Amino acid sequence: MLTYEGLKKEFVPCPLCNSSSTKKIFKEETREIVTCKRCSMVYVNPRPTSEAIKQLYSTGISRWTTSKEYIDKKTPFFEDLLSRVQMIKNGGKILDVGCGIGLFLKLARENEWEAYGVDISNEDVKYAREKFRLNVHLGGLIEANYPEEFFDVVTMWDVIEHMADPLSHFKEIKKILKNGGYLFILTGNIDSDEAKQKGVEWDFLSNRSHIVFFSTQTLGEFLDLAGLKMICLPNSTILPEFASSHMIRKAMKKMKILVREPATFIDLLKKAYAILMKPKQTHDSSMMILATKKD
Ligand SMILES: [Zn+2]
Repeated sequence: MLTYEGLKKEFVPCPLCNSSSTKKIFKEETREIVTCKRCSMVYVNPRPTSEAIKQLYSTGISRWTTSKEYIDKKTPFFEDLLSRVQMIKNGGKILDVGCGIGLFLKLARENEWEAYGVDISNEDVKYAREKFRLNVHLGGLIEANYPEEFFDVVTMWDVIEHMADPLSHFKEIKKILKNGGYLFILTGNIDSDEAKQKGVEWDFLSNRSHIVFFSTQTLGEFLDLAGLKMICLPNSTILPEFASSHMIRKAMKKMKILVREPATFIDLLKKAYAILMKPKQTHDSSMMILATKKD
């Protein structure tokens, strides 16, 4: 059985800014985690080659994901994530990147979504296709080659931390996302209090299959480089400015409120809402990010 220790590794430049100037922050016998001196991105270096990662996932690292225990444990988790998606958007075409056995997509389909998935694990994709009859591509997102402006929503639940090249994935998502579509990301927050307190003992850092570690700042920079923009902060709190204008516009439409100067009116309400609903910053060790295409 293939293990992390046995994987072929290589030195790589910073996946965000391409600099090779780094500082070691954690060193273990078989793994080093560094931070980029230029942009403060945190990543494993040397890290397993892309080929080695693919090999690892296709040989059954995810065997437990087809167990009943996994399904029972993860179903409420994905139900919660779907309800968050549906606060923003209801129905349409949804793509789950790194969909595994397709548990999230199965729930989405039950809620009238047209569901698509990609995953690099043979075993998981087989399960998704055979047991759940889902439309899942076996392989990477880029080679799946979806049409431009195809999806209303793209989700990446606990997957970007496994990616050797997150930027090319975000660029692809920008291409396949409809104008006005949304990208949802769930990942660990390297700037969180828990990460700082526990260091390498933090579950997220101790997981050997995680090779890149994001903060809201570095993730925001990745999205920006890909032509996307972040509109949501950690702790699953929707950024007040976004939530308020989105909700106010919806409410105004519903109540047929006509305001002579809607922009000024909305601006005023937004300020009030922002004060009342200040998002918590980095207390939670995982962060949910919502992004759209830049205008
Ligand atoms: Zn960098």
